[in-house]
Amino acid sequence: MQTIHSYDFTGKKALIRVDFNVPLDENFVITDDTRIRAALPTIRKVMTGGGSPVIMSHFGRPKAGPEDKFSMRHLVGHLSALVGVEVKLAPDCIGEEVKEMCLALKPGEVLLLENLRFHKGEEKGDVEFARQLADNGDCWINDAFGTAHRAHASTAVMAQFFPEDKMFGYLIESELESLDKVLKSPQRPLTAIMGGAKVSTKITIIENLLGKVDNLILGGGMTFTFVKARGGKIGNSLCEDEFLETALRIEQTAKEKGVNIIMASDVVAADAFSNDANTMVCKAGEIPEGWMGLDAGPESIAYFREVIGKSGTILWNGPVGVFEMEKFAAGSIAVGQAIVDATSKGGFSLVGGGDSVACVNQFGFSEGVSYISTAGGALLEYLEGRELPGVAAVRGN
Ligand code: AMP
Repeated sequence: MQTIHSYDFTGKKALIRVDFNVPLDENFVITDDTRIRAALPTIRKVMTGGGSPVIMSHFGRPKAGPEDKFSMRHLVGHLSALVGVEVKLAPDCIGEEVKEMCLALKPGEVLLLENLRFHKGEEKGDVEFARQLADNGDCWINDAFGTAHRAHASTAVMAQFFPEDKMFGYLIESELESLDKVLKSPQRPLTAIMGGAKVSTKITIIENLLGKVDNLILGGGMTFTFVKARGGKIGNSLCEDEFLETALRIEQTAKEKGVNIIMASDVVAADAFSNDANTMVCKAGEIPEGWMGLDAGPESIAYFREVIGKSGTILWNGPVGVFEMEKFAAGSIAVGQAIVDATSKGGFSLVGGGDSVACVNQFGFSEGVSYISTAGGALLEYLEGRELPGVAAVRGN
């Protein structure tokens, strides 16, 4: 398999699939350029290696063909400033004119193709469309982990046209390396903290993790489905009654596999879903009618801390309370701090999934964790143990 480290880009037009799906304000100004910055190492590597990056991305959700508000033209100025050369913009992503623009690129010159999703063939994974994209370059670099769970033309299908000239970009490579440090070769003990609102969205991940982790801390709203399944009183707390059996099954599997499942023993309960609510600390299975558990209590927090503190590897997905409200943020802050402390002592930590990333950023822990994945759906599918089409396409023959 080729790697971006050793591939010779001299004189090559390198098609780089990136994720430039950045947010814009009403004046079409980029409000968060993290995704563009994340692709810069790969773009620069091609440039300094004597090649010409041809950048491809989707942007927004155009419905039927080209729409100015989803044009890449809104990104080209900012991209030029970041890359340090004037990036050219193609009028489309396929066709003769685009192909000629690609051919005319000199080493170090950069071309941004127009939005891939202006063509239906992209999301359909159409082979003919993929072939036309492939016609624009000499090699294919997949650096869009955020769309790696999709078998789209540019994220997977076009790999077949570059059997000897396909590779991951730096961003995907570091995502996969970090995930493998957790899922394949963790320093033990390995602790996963799964939180968030609902257990239904996390069952497959939890089941997959049960075969790998030593400790599984379950927090947030999903706790109460487990507590109720055990016969506890949960008041008005979030609960998915149709998953009570599943909760019991997960606990049974954990027991069989020797996984230590840890759930809040006490909670901060509130009489309304509001930061102005009255609150009290009570046992997780003794929440009075009309009250709801919105955060882990002090006894639970102390135990979570202890377990995280002794861990060699930590995976965090989902807050353990309603961290958006100050009154119910203590549990998630304590988890974040414990992860930072364990990391500073040599542990490896990976935080992923929208809300835990927001939490880590909001409370200033981002510098103290080993890796933050912003991949969303692709990350969740990887944690479920599924093979991602965009990864398989690069690795496969
Ligand atoms: P998810 O997208 O499933 O990871 O859920 C994240 C959301 O779960 C956050 O917005 C939290 O506010 C929410 N959450 C965490 N704990 C609770 C809880 N005990 N009750 C209700 N919502 C919660």
